Amino acid sequence: LEKELRHKEKLAAIGDMAAGVAHEIRNPLSSIKGIATYFKGLFDESHDARETAEVMIDEVDRLNRAVTELLTIAGPTRLVTARHDVGEIVQRAVRLVEAEADSLGVDLTVEAPEAPVMALLDADRLTQSLLNLFLNALQAMKAQQGGHLAVTLKETPGAVCLSVADTGCGMNAETLASLFDPYFTTKADGTGLGLAIVHNIIEAHGGTIEVTSHPGQGARFDIELPQGE
Ligand code: ADP
Repeated sequence: LEKELRHKEKLAAIGDMAAGVAHEIRNPLSSIKGIATYFKGLFDESHDARETAEVMIDEVDRLNRAVTELLTIAGPTRLVTARHDVGEIVQRAVRLVEAEADSLGVDLTVEAPEAPVMALLDADRLTQSLLNLFLNALQAMKAQQGGHLAVTLKETPGAVCLSVADTGCGMNAETLASLFDPYFTTKADGTGLGLAIVHNIIEAHGGTIEVTSHPGQGARFDIELPQGE
């Protein structure tokens, strides 16, 4: 227990530091973006300098996203919670990947109760978590002909259960042991941050996330969230 407490203190200290560094990086970034936008306005469409300014703006945006990701990993996860219909959040996240699923020939299904499933949670963070799981699932099915992405929402006394199951490439024991670790990835262009972020968000809600998978036999992620007051 003492070891765990020390670990928690250390994480809190790293979180404070990350928040400080992020702040120090964001301010000059917003000046740079402002200046690049000003420069862009000085040139008309035909001018090369306009494109150069646009690259600067895009790169600043990229750095800002990197800072946001760092904060999601290391920083304190401060939730903005309210009572939401989880079914609606699921639908919203599903809509964001429908076109991608379609283009891969993946059958995307949602199973949820008719009545609203209410819970106290941060809707944006849960949407982000579901999106990360959906995108991983679609990527896992990319190398094959089609597949099935099944999203299920259930309510148990006091809790909301979400499951995201795919029929993709699945995972071996080694990947299963590390997949929630920040920067762990098996993809050439992966960041390895997606599931670490999901894990943080679910834990911040007092929930749990579990994974079941076998190589070549798809993967299933099971999330349980307390419904709250
Ligand atoms: P990234 O997607 O950038 O690699 P993640 O943290 O989202 O980072 O995932 C970590 C690793 O977990 C992936 O590289 C992949 O090996 C494995 N993984 C995650 N989701 C799935 C899935 N649905 N099917 C198979 N492997 C998965």
